[in-house]
Parts: sequence; C-alpha cells; structure tokens
Amino acid sequence: MNTIVQKYGGTSMGTIARIQNVAKRIIAKKEQGNRMVVVVSAMGKSTDHLVEMAYAVNEKPPKREMDMLLATGEQVSISMLSMALDEMGYKAISFTGPQVGIKTEGLHGRARIMDVDKTKIVEALDEDKIVIVAGFQGVNENDDITTLGRGGSDTSAVALSVVLGCPCEIYTDVDGIYGVDPRLYPPAKKLDVVSYDEMLEMASLGAGVMNPRAIELGRKYNADILVASSINKVPGTLITSNIDQQAKDITGLAVYDDEMMVSIKDVPYRSDVAAQLFADLAEAGINVDMISQTKPINDKMHISFSLSTEDRDLLGKVLPAFQAEYEGTEVTIRDDTVKLSVVGSGMKLHSGVASRFFALLCEQQFPILMVTTSDIRISCMIPKEAKERVVMAVADGFEL
Ligand code: ADP
Ligand code: ASP
Ligand code: MG
Repeated sequence: MNTIVQKYGGTSMGTIARIQNVAKRIIAKKEQGNRMVVVVSAMGKSTDHLVEMAYAVNEKPPKREMDMLLATGEQVSISMLSMALDEMGYKAISFTGPQVGIKTEGLHGRARIMDVDKTKIVEALDEDKIVIVAGFQGVNENDDITTLGRGGSDTSAVALSVVLGCPCEIYTDVDGIYGVDPRLYPPAKKLDVVSYDEMLEMASLGAGVMNPRAIELGRKYNADILVASSINKVPGTLITSNIDQQAKDITGLAVYDDEMMVSIKDVPYRSDVAAQLFADLAEAGINVDMISQTKPINDKMHISFSLSTEDRDLLGKVLPAFQAEYEGTEVTIRDDTVKLSVVGSGMKLHSGVASRFFALLCEQQFPILMVTTSDIRISCMIPKEAKERVVMAVADGFEL
C-alpha cells in the first residue's frame, strides 16, 4: 500500500464544513488503498488571533511562551479533524509535533526540524488508522515546544514525506502556484511545474504560497511537492527538479511588502568603515538584504541597504553609534518601499531579460531605489505607491 502525506492549510480548515470537506477528501484517498498521513494548520486566522492575544497581555511576549501559545492552534485542528473522521466511521488518531518526535533546534519562533521519529506514525498506520499531525511545531532539546515560523506547516509536511519516503501533497486555497499571486494580479496563469530553485527564490522573495524552508527540504531530498486546491478538482503545480523552463524568460514575479531601506550619506570612502557598519548590523541581529554603494566624491560615499521591517527596532542599536563615530554622516530611513522580483531559470540562457524588465519599469516613471540580481532573479526596491501598476506592467509584459 502506498503512503501519502497531505497537508491542509488554515483557510482549508477554517470552518466545520471545511474540516468535513477535508475529512471526505482524505477518506476518498484512503478508499483508493492509500495509507494516509495528514498535516494540518490552525483553523482560519486563529494563529493571528493568538498573536494578538499575546500582545494584548505583554508588549514583548517571551518567545518560549509565545511558542507554547501558538502551538495550540494546530492542536485544535488536529483533534477536530480526527473527530470528524471518527464521525464518518474511520479510525483516526491525532498527534502534536512533540508526540511524533519532530525534533527541532534553533530559536523559538523560527526553529528548524532536525529529526523526525516515524515509529508512532508507522504503528498507527499499521493499525489502519488515518494519522493526523499538527503542522508548524516540534520540540527542542529542553523538551520545550517550538514553532517553525509562520507558514511552517508546509515544512512539517515535507519533512514527514521525506522521512516516510512518500509523495507530499499540499492543499490550499488556490489551484496551484501562479506566475504572480492571483490576489495581486487576477489574470495570472497557473504553472504546471516549477523547479525547486525557482520556487525557493519566489517563496523567499514574498510568494507566500509556500514556506521557503519546505522547498529547501524538498530540494535537498529530491522530494517532489504537489501544490493544489483543497476545493476544486483541477490539476495543481508540481515543484520538482530538472525541468525545462528554457522557453520562458521569467517564470514568476513576487513582491515582498515588509522591506525597508536605510541610506547613509557622506560615509568616509574606506573599506574598513563599510566593514564595520555591516559587522555592527550583523551583531545586532539584523539580516541585511540589498546593498548599494555610490562612487566616491571628495572621499565620501553613500551606502544604502535594505532589511525586513521586523528588524526595524534593532537599527536603534547600530545607527546612532555609527553616526557618533563618523560625524557628518546623514541617515535616511524609508519604509514606504517594497521589493519586487522577477524569477526565471530562463534568464541563465537568454540575454535581454534585464533590458526588457527595466524598459517595463521605465515606462511607469518612478525611481528604482536599489537593485540586486542572482543568476535566476532580478530584484528592485520601488516606492510602495507604484506597486500595483508595476506588477500589472511587468506581469503583462512577461505574460505571467
Ligand atoms: P495555506 O493556509 O493553505 O497555507 P497560504 O495563505 O499560506 O495558504 O498560501 C496561499 C496563498 O498564497 C494564496 O491565497 C495566494 O494569495 C498566495 N500566493 C502568493 N503568491 C502566490 C503564487 N505565486 N501563486 C499562488 N498563490 C500565491
Ligand atoms: N498556523 C501557522 C501560521 O498561521 C502555520 C501555518 O499556517 O502553516 O503561520
Ligand atoms: Mg501557508
């Protein structure tokens, strides 16, 4: 008998009727002779509500306690789904992450899965039970509950499929992966297949449909991931290796809304000064993304860098001290910006992609604040107010 890991996200589990719909889908696959392992997320927006509750009682909630709280969302949905299956006459058993030995390491709130002990899952499958596992959570070396970062249930599902050596199916509220988030650009086209590399770039650059760590794991273990609708019976998108996207210049476009930009004017033109700035930023725990530096004028340069708005408060530890040390420097912080990226393996082979991209941006007449590239992507910081029309222009231009 084949084993299948399926994952259902928050919207798909958002109401009693939807939980019953998920239960029926699982039963249909079981009836075809499959052993079913199902990972679920918290119902609807319940994780957001738990976060709000935490901040209502404490402005800086201790991270260990935050994980303790957030993990409860998934505990509700696993038990509800298991009960729905029982009501429909099927044997099911729910497990939290710690119960099935999802061992993690790293920081609370963004822990990484290190190991999964499949013993309990296999025992339950051997007893003909449908196994329901809480996504997004594990346990660390101190036996504390950890969470994997928002959207982390995808990673739980891929990890289980790797350990069980079986296919992974991610069911969500869209019909698959589109060239652009269909909420941002409704005419977007669905992709039949997408490579791990492209999907990893897209997910890391703001395409929230899949968690980047899930893709990383899939790529590492060569585990194909199907992303499809939990409602509509239409083919989804397969995330896999070695696909031939050569015909396309650009596979997808992603926008990351929560990126801000810092510019420092009149920095002494010395490499040790730049080195110190980035060392101080790193020490403060700031993850710098894009960087640009102007050519020197009178031995002074301008340095700009971007960072996630999550790290905004950490800047206070670095910038005042830097300015005190280098008098005459001037700092400007902009958070009215977004990062827009286009991704495509075809870029490696075709010339002229950057030229078309910048021509499309140019037609919209707004400043491009910073640019970075890799061999399969081009990203630029743009003013937030230009986002909609730029997405439209670029998506139309590249027929995404
Ligand atoms: P789930 O709760 O099932 O994990 P998510 O909200 O995490 O669902 O992911 C699904 C959402 O991802 C969609 O509703 C869609 O708006 C968004 N999304 C962003 N980029 C894309 C994309 N390129 N293709 C499809 N959906 C995308
Ligand atoms: N419930 C968690 C979240 O909202 C995990 C997930 O949905 O994957 O981020
Ligand atoms: Mg998700």
